[in-house]
Amino acid sequence: MVDNKNFPPTGPLAAHPAGAENAVLLKGVLIYGEGEPQDVLLSDGVIAKIGADLSTEAPAEAEVLDLSGQVLLPGLVDMHVHLREPGREDTETIASGSAAAAKGGFTAVFTMANTSPVMDDPAIAESVWYKGQNTNLCDVHPVGSISKGLEGKELTEFGMMADSDAKVRMFSDDGKCVDDPRLMRRAIEYSRGMDVLLAQHCEEPRLTEGAVAHEGETAARLGLRGWPRVAEESIVARDALMARDYGGRIHICHASTEGTVELLRWAKGQDIPLSAEVTPHHLILTDSRLETFDGVNRVNPPLREERDTLALRQALIDGVVDCVATDHAPHSSEEKCCEFDQARPGMLGLETSLAIIADLFVINGDQDWRFVAKVMSERPAEITKLPGHGRPIAEGEPANLCVVDTNASWTAEAKEMASKSENNPYEGMPMPVRVSTTILRGKVTCRNGNPVKTD
Ligand SMILES: [Zn+2]
Repeated sequence: MVDNKNFPPTGPLAAHPAGAENAVLLKGVLIYGEGEPQDVLLSDGVIAKIGADLSTEAPAEAEVLDLSGQVLLPGLVDMHVHLREPGREDTETIASGSAAAAKGGFTAVFTMANTSPVMDDPAIAESVWYKGQNTNLCDVHPVGSISKGLEGKELTEFGMMADSDAKVRMFSDDGKCVDDPRLMRRAIEYSRGMDVLLAQHCEEPRLTEGAVAHEGETAARLGLRGWPRVAEESIVARDALMARDYGGRIHICHASTEGTVELLRWAKGQDIPLSAEVTPHHLILTDSRLETFDGVNRVNPPLREERDTLALRQALIDGVVDCVATDHAPHSSEEKCCEFDQARPGMLGLETSLAIIADLFVINGDQDWRFVAKVMSERPAEITKLPGHGRPIAEGEPANLCVVDTNASWTAEAKEMASKSENNPYEGMPMPVRVSTTILRGKVTCRNGNPVKTD
């Protein structure tokens, strides 16, 4: 059972048709990619039955999806996206971002606070929460900012946001670092009483002024101002020590360096309560991409070197880095198709992440689909204490699921994506597997690889 003792469920679940009207029969899926094909009957928002052939047991009105030989996983959970609403609806909205999430296999996402206005008060968080519920393609959880206006000076009212209808349970100034150690200490002490998560964007700003690329040989040769590893690692180290001495729940956003991995390995060895995520792009892309000066490759933290990607991959396998988060960051073409040092940092990620992780760790690695379920669904749901997601695939469990077609290769093209933006760093890259189906509380949100239309 979900332990809700310290975490009230995040508001009422979205309304969905009840009973047989809503029944769905998944035919012939491989649960976690294992064993013999099974039928899975979904009804009333839960997994009603699992068996070899449930054709005769499904209600006559049930939607039957022939998914023979496809892999059934728990619905994916992304702790770190930017859906840009309110303020930049020209680049993404709750609705378009939810569609991108559904298309990528996600059933829950946490959308960061660096909106305009900043998500630093309950009314803004509630508006995002309600828009997510109305769209009903994915559970959208607003992240509150740690400091008012992301200015790093004064704490926001965590309690007011936690008590709102949005039931905010994660706070972050992501995009900016809470670099003032006194403010971070106060945030930890304040957060402890409410058992909320603090997600830190680790960047010592005095070491990254004007920086646009990883500080290394490539940036030096191309004449780009460098963003050194130590700017990230010094904050990771500081916050690990803060977590040791002051407790709380601290989460490290988008780990990008080999040194961060070493620090996390040390911290976890000391039983310091700290969790961490890595993005797909920091697992596979390096600063060698900068040769073209294409703004699509500008991201924060920057693409590093091969040894960083290798260390991060191993850390994810070892559990030193807990989970994958996309840091899906839509930007307009004008903000990306310009001089490299003028381009806004950030990349799309929701619609390509499952294929990239499967390619890297299952198809070309020695991990199995249980590993993908762990790092893309179970761990992020545990870290965020999110009820109903990242649960075992078993009778009686909530029907938050995704299905991966391992025989459907495709090419990543921004124009085919549900996101409103086109800053896709994998443009033209072959993707070996595709999410065919996503299901949110028994309701199909993605069918044949396409998000269902909403009003
Ligand atoms: Zn960030």
